Amino acid sequence: MIQFPSKQAQVQTTIFTKMSALATEYGALNLSQGFPGFDCSEELQALLAFYSKGHNQYAPMAGVPVFKQSIADKTKLFYGIEMDAQKEVTVVSGATEALFCAIHCCVFPGDEVIMFDPSYDAYDPAVRLAGGIPIHLAMDAQKGFQIDWELLARTISPKTRAIMVNTPHNPTGAIWSEEDLNALAEIVKGTNILIISDEVYEHIVFDGKKHYSVLLHPELRKRSFVCGSFGKTYHITGWKIGYCLAPEYLTREFQKLHQWVTFSSATPLQYALSDYLKEPKHYLGLADFYQRKRDLFAAAFAGSRWKLLPSHGSFFQCIDYSEISDELDVDLAVRLTKEIQVASIPISVFYQKPPSDKILRFCFAKNDDILLEAASRLVQL
Ligand code: PMP
Ligand code: GLN
Repeated sequence: MIQFPSKQAQVQTTIFTKMSALATEYGALNLSQGFPGFDCSEELQALLAFYSKGHNQYAPMAGVPVFKQSIADKTKLFYGIEMDAQKEVTVVSGATEALFCAIHCCVFPGDEVIMFDPSYDAYDPAVRLAGGIPIHLAMDAQKGFQIDWELLARTISPKTRAIMVNTPHNPTGAIWSEEDLNALAEIVKGTNILIISDEVYEHIVFDGKKHYSVLLHPELRKRSFVCGSFGKTYHITGWKIGYCLAPEYLTREFQKLHQWVTFSSATPLQYALSDYLKEPKHYLGLADFYQRKRDLFAAAFAGSRWKLLPSHGSFFQCIDYSEISDELDVDLAVRLTKEIQVASIPISVFYQKPPSDKILRFCFAKNDDILLEAASRLVQL
């Protein structure tokens, strides 16, 4: 072996990869990794088939112009916010790329980037690879995973380069309110702190509530990279296509990174999605679609010792199992996969300092029969 130092010595294979592999090995119902257990629409498949003729060479670096325009039009329709399609929109190969490029285009060695735990697993390593210092602030399950604004204000330092936002939140299903936007805006006002906002579940907010994008607050919008994904919205996580919305001065820096990471994203996908995006009902119906699944899954736990935490958005349901087992969540997730063939995600892995909570995350983006079967196996414990 050639000797070389690992750039990520502490990093392991992601929990999603591990749990999905274990689920496959044991033939388990896979409610672990977040992906739909059903296909995208036939209409979208037909559009892709159509555009796979004659659109098979490199797309422009920042995205196919008509697609960027469709994304800007959707942003106007859904949020009432005007984005300049050619200067403020970049098409990327999934939100993972958007997050990586946003972090790498602005974080210098020694810069601090604040994130709220449990935090999505891609944030911390990207900050470290840029030489930055991730600062993890824990949210409290007992307080509904709300942000402690006073703690955030105290944590800001001259080294703070950026704050990571994620609403609707993975893994907890918590969502931000207008007050949250205002609180963050008050804290960053007058500073040079940037915001990197992960809003991949923007169209999955329940109970008639609204998604509060950072785009909606001028103080936040002017300093934000908003990372989006079509994977969640159209049941196409395997297409790996998303976008970054940011003011022109940030988009310019973002694109300098994007051109070295992937250069451009798959051309036929961009044309197909550009057409599909023009029909708002394709994304406006998503919240109801998943709310029904959330409620179906939740109802199956009624009267059991599994305590469901509120899920206000995303397609995740967190469940407290403290009345059922003393095991660590990482151990229980593995045992349930092996013994009753139900795979879930332990949420402690998303913390720098895991609390003693006993919580597993279940993905309910699955067919109803799978959800009911998984719940029936769990409630027997
Ligand atoms: N952020 C969050 C919170 C996610 O849950 C995911 C994927 N499930 C991503 C980013 C990555 O999105 P993509 O698959 O488009 O890269
Ligand atoms: N975001 C998905 C989840 O939370 C997984 C994506 C991945 O496997 N990288 O389960």
